[in-house]
Amino acid sequence: MAQVATPLGPLVRSLAGFRAERGLGISLFLNLDPTVVPTTKDVGSHVRSVVDDARRRVLELAPHLDHEQALGARNDLDAGEAFLEEELDRSGARGYALYVAGLDGVRYELPLPTAADDAAHVGRAFAVAPLLGALERDREVVVAAVGRERGTLWRTRGGSTEVLDDRTEEIHGRHDQGGWSQARFQRRIEHDALAHFRDVADLLAHAVEPGSGTFVVVACVEEQRSTFEELLAPHVREALLGWTAVEAHAGHEALEPEVDRLLSARLEDEREALLDRWREERASGGKAIVSWRDALEAAADAAVEVALVDGRSPKAWACPACGRGSIEPGGCPLDGTSLVEDSGGALELVARGALANAGRVRRIARLDETQGVAALLRYPVRAAR
Ligand SMILES: [Zn+2]
Repeated sequence: MAQVATPLGPLVRSLAGFRAERGLGISLFLNLDPTVVPTTKDVGSHVRSVVDDARRRVLELAPHLDHEQALGARNDLDAGEAFLEEELDRSGARGYALYVAGLDGVRYELPLPTAADDAAHVGRAFAVAPLLGALERDREVVVAAVGRERGTLWRTRGGSTEVLDDRTEEIHGRHDQGGWSQARFQRRIEHDALAHFRDVADLLAHAVEPGSGTFVVVACVEEQRSTFEELLAPHVREALLGWTAVEAHAGHEALEPEVDRLLSARLEDEREALLDRWREERASGGKAIVSWRDALEAAADAAVEVALVDGRSPKAWACPACGRGSIEPGGCPLDGTSLVEDSGGALELVARGALANAGRVRRIARLDETQGVAALLRYPVRAAR
């Protein structure tokens, strides 16, 4: 069983904050959805098309590069192509990201639990917007399968799962009815079952750190639900995504679809709640942003608490010196450097600026009230306009 993955958040924040000092940052994204790329041969042709795209971008940037930088980018792409074609381990991954900035000594291989569209980005910074789907689903869920003789806890995150504890036992085997009356024997079994439930509830209380954002799913038969629920610690009850029924010996694979469904429903609720908060703030003239121009400024000023984006993105330009984004070309208002168009557009620049400064970014289906962005601020940056 795969070791549970490390949280994606800190890595994405450091990728968002990265700026190449000596060479170029190359970000390559591959869709590994088996319905789109079923075979290794299919992966190969997708790799070549993504890397060719990156090579074209390096050529476009050539007038701004010195010899060492151009050579470094070519070497990174040759090595990246060879790695993706020959060494890529796609097991369990639905997408893949490769980040490399050879001259700056940076390289990350990132299997993703969600599909990412094929894409290539080349510039001083890495592209992080294609990771938003994986980032949102990167939540830890503790799954408990509970019964009279069963108590298995798994921890799952980003598509990988590990067993936390297993208190499955043969309760009936411990007692020989012997000279006991049937009633007394039955009471003994009930007593043991309750002790076992308490034991498992206790494990669960320790497995879920209060305030950690970890979710809980409990699988047990309907009749035992209320008994077990009463034994749950308050912080575990708060972390509950939901209940699901379970076959006596079902492993975590059998529970996965239901855990996925419960997590998706919760994430949808979270997005709705954020959108509601944004609408309230907007109505009261508070800390809400409704335009790309303001979102870019707030992202650069580290003022974004949460940005909501729907996938639409106008063109945008970024300062090669400080990274500040702008909705139009020209010079950086801070240092006068000529702005360069970013291939990821305004969405990428807002995502990068927000994530690098400990903000959050959520992808939502459709934001009809704006041109594709809505953001909640940590503090008001300016009077709403
Ligand atoms: Zn600047």
